[in-house]
Amino acid sequence: MAATRSIELRTEIPGPRSREILERKARAVADPLVVLLPIVAQEAHGVRLTDVDGNTFIDFTAGVGVLNVGYSHPRVLEAMREQLERFVHTDFTVVAYEPYVELAERLGALAPISGPVKAGFFNSGAEAVENAVKWAKLYTRRPGVIAFEGAFHGRTYLALTLTSKPHPYKTGLGPLVPEVYRSPFPNTYRGPDSLTALAALERLFLTQVSPQQIAAIVLEPQQGEGGFLPAPPEFVRGLRRICDDHGIVLVADEVQTGFARTGRMFAMEHFDVEPDLLVIAKSIAAGLPLSGVLGRAEIMDAPHEAAVGGTYVGNPVAQAAALAVLDVIEDEGLCDRARSIGEVVRSRMEAWQRTYAPVGDARGLGAMLAIEFVQDRDSKAPAPDLATAVVDEAARRGLLLLKAGLEGNCIRVLCPLVISDAELDEALDVWEASLAVVLSA
Ligand code: PLP
Repeated sequence: MAATRSIELRTEIPGPRSREILERKARAVADPLVVLLPIVAQEAHGVRLTDVDGNTFIDFTAGVGVLNVGYSHPRVLEAMREQLERFVHTDFTVVAYEPYVELAERLGALAPISGPVKAGFFNSGAEAVENAVKWAKLYTRRPGVIAFEGAFHGRTYLALTLTSKPHPYKTGLGPLVPEVYRSPFPNTYRGPDSLTALAALERLFLTQVSPQQIAAIVLEPQQGEGGFLPAPPEFVRGLRRICDDHGIVLVADEVQTGFARTGRMFAMEHFDVEPDLLVIAKSIAAGLPLSGVLGRAEIMDAPHEAAVGGTYVGNPVAQAAALAVLDVIEDEGLCDRARSIGEVVRSRMEAWQRTYAPVGDARGLGAMLAIEFVQDRDSKAPAPDLATAVVDEAARRGLLLLKAGLEGNCIRVLCPLVISDAELDEALDVWEASLAVVLSA
């Protein structure tokens, strides 16, 4: 049976209505809020997004990894509606509600952390990262934090300080938060290897700060914005050992990797290493703003009363959505599905790597995969322009792609995990055709 075509293009891209709204956007919206793709959304379901000109795209960006259960999942919409009609807000720390407690219970049971686990909820990934560090500082009574080269943890001041890339995020914003130290992250394509990266961290303890001053090491189990670099298992095990040796809290930032994206509910499960704190956001609530910190009860209970909180933290509608997201992940087997999507995408990416010299690397865990573009295989000099050209060509053909990487030379997969086999094949064919146009030119 012929695969149904999901992509349907009725105008040139961008179409006239998208163009007009984006012109208005340029006049009314502050310039730093750049829009990466030249279309304006009208509605979206599953993996398909239709723009205001009636063009339907397959969306591999999914709001930057927020829609693992897809756009507008009926069960999630129903849960949101039900809660919306009951009440939208009380401030949980003034009047409590059950969805908050139930979500804490369910996520506590799912977190790859043994012993009693407690939770706190927030709005954005950055806010949850900030709070994880507060928990670690108030538990250890130490000032320092270690983050890695290539890390992305958000844009608020502490999260921004933990974020590695100076431009565009940090330029002109200093001074940043003190007592943040940076160490190399392993990269199987470019180096360093895990041993070298761990040695650099040990050296940091010798040359820059004593480990007794460090409250937390903050790790992305697979770097997201930094270029979809999975942490090698021996590196994560080495970090756990260092944290145990020195009483440092290991914080796993699973904002992008969580909720089945890598083929496990949480990416830390790939390594058989338990973090002390786990930061979650993005796909937790299928698009409503919600984030959280899960962690060992001993750490989570350490701060004094009201040391963490906020008016909107743990919105009940978002939490009702999150409970439905967990049901969908479980009932629709999305961890298994992420693994099978990953196998299909990986084999196509490896074929592209064999065919095209500028496709230097293909990597990632489960359905969190990327290809990296280089000018040539020997120098491995980054080729961000090629990545941009492929993204642009794919958009013109109906596939929405997103770049990643410190040098912007990777293209990543963050498609909803509810994608059908036919949609996946169609999207990969469009990606392949776009590569052929750009790389054969
Ligand atoms: N941590 C990671 C690993 C992320 O990928 C991001 C966002 O991309 C953040 C934190 C920040 O999340 P937010 O944009 O919700 O503040």
